[in-house]
Amino acid sequence: MSYQGPFSLDQAAAAFLDRAPALYIDGAFIGLEGAARIQVHDPATGAVIAEAIDATAGHVDEAVRSAHAAFEDGRWRDLRPADRERVLLRLADLLEARGEAFAQLETLEQGKSINLSRMLEVGASVDWIRYAAGLTTKIAGRTFDLSLPGGPAHWTAYTRREPLGVVGAIAPWNFPLMIALWKVLPALAAGCSVVLKPSEVTPLTALMLAELATEAGVPAGVFNVVTGAGAVAGSALTTHPLVAKLTFTGSTATGKAIGRAAVDGLKRFTLELGGKNPALILRDADLGRVVPGLITGGFLNGGQVCASASRVYVETPLYDDLVAGLRQALGGLSIGPGLDPQTQVNPLASAAQRDKVASYLTQARQAGAEIIQPIATPDQGYFVSPSLILDPPADARLVREEVFGPVLNIVRIDSAEQGLALANDSELGLAASLWTRDIDQAMSLTRRLEAGTVWVNSHVFIDPNMPFGGFKQSGLGRDFGVDWLSAYTEEKSICIAH
Ligand code: NAD
Repeated sequence: MSYQGPFSLDQAAAAFLDRAPALYIDGAFIGLEGAARIQVHDPATGAVIAEAIDATAGHVDEAVRSAHAAFEDGRWRDLRPADRERVLLRLADLLEARGEAFAQLETLEQGKSINLSRMLEVGASVDWIRYAAGLTTKIAGRTFDLSLPGGPAHWTAYTRREPLGVVGAIAPWNFPLMIALWKVLPALAAGCSVVLKPSEVTPLTALMLAELATEAGVPAGVFNVVTGAGAVAGSALTTHPLVAKLTFTGSTATGKAIGRAAVDGLKRFTLELGGKNPALILRDADLGRVVPGLITGGFLNGGQVCASASRVYVETPLYDDLVAGLRQALGGLSIGPGLDPQTQVNPLASAAQRDKVASYLTQARQAGAEIIQPIATPDQGYFVSPSLILDPPADARLVREEVFGPVLNIVRIDSAEQGLALANDSELGLAASLWTRDIDQAMSLTRRLEAGTVWVNSHVFIDPNMPFGGFKQSGLGRDFGVDWLSAYTEEKSICIAH
């Protein structure tokens, strides 16, 4: 397979597409003659650009056993923390140096703008790797004074944080490289071994990343990649008895299934799930900031962002100007393939996602919603025009369900209190934003918004040093921040009589 489109590709990206499908197990690509395959499409055209292995439970077992053997013999976890750090820093350097190949592959399999691939999938990922690398040398326990009766004269107790073992990491298709790294990095930094299953929609960059990790010095077997369907390969990973921890980013429905499987095996688990994120705009907000802020917050990556704004609640005095401003800003964007750096509106990741978003829009139209779509879409590819839904009727499905596309509901409110009640009226609670110049409102409403992250006068910006995760049904646990590794370690108490 290869890319036949109009853009010239980086040599390493082209060579990767030409490669025979393989899994990455025990530090090498394992080609599997006769194994079932999944096709990888270029969302800009729908053309097949590559194939990947559709792994069976047997293949997953092989990968988990490789990871388990690597964990047991200590080839990674027993390295000095400074040496694990050095390897991860080398991985960051290599990704930075080979970034263009990763960025192009990401755009080719996922559809997003090459500018976003360069800035986030590669650029931000490099920052995240360096942040996680720094955490390897910060793992620490605590010491305790005890009050035990009798016995010897003195007791000393302390804790150690020990790596959990094999981590099963399952990633989605919206930021395939960056989110895969969010799952893999804390595991590696803590000394665990990993089996990563990327989304079947976007399997390519995870495979290239694992090869790069080996080149950086991650020992064979410590970082394995199995590609394939969630129901088979994903499910085999979640139920494998040698997997100690599951870390998952994806939809709430799948996350619940993974949580159930984890509890069944008493595996530790971290879930980063869906969002239906509100943006609350008060009457004193600066529209000069709100309009570009919502273009980014609602339409970055075609709205295929767990934390993207999807429900805008705006006080009546600003409603008309906001709608006009958003309509004008969207109308000024150019649409086309992600590999064209001049375009800002790019295809969604798959035909299935395009059709899902289209069905939400059809249903909303039938329910009586007014829909503004300022941009015409090309005839081929998985494009959806960025859409503003004005005061959608309560029975439109896109009012309550995560659409995960370029769709922004805009609802008129009469007061901040009404907006707050509507914003919190959701089963999900991943993120929210508040737009105001009033410090008292900001301090009060940021406390009362039910979301894992609340931005004031911005939306969707995340950072390795800022914990990220969901309230309510948006997940369990937190990624990032100085405590990131604690969910990848077990705390052991050691009690010494002396
Ligand atoms: P998805 O749940 O369909 O799939 C995610 C991954 O789970 C894929 O690798 C898939 O193959 C696998 N999977 C599916 N069924 C499985 C099963 N039964 N057992 C094990 N694995 C299984 O999600 P998606 O469509 O790839 O991604 C979009 C979703 O991800 C959205 O809901 C979005 O909000 C969410 N997301 C959340 C965050 C966050 O940090 N909270 C970040 C990005 C995306």
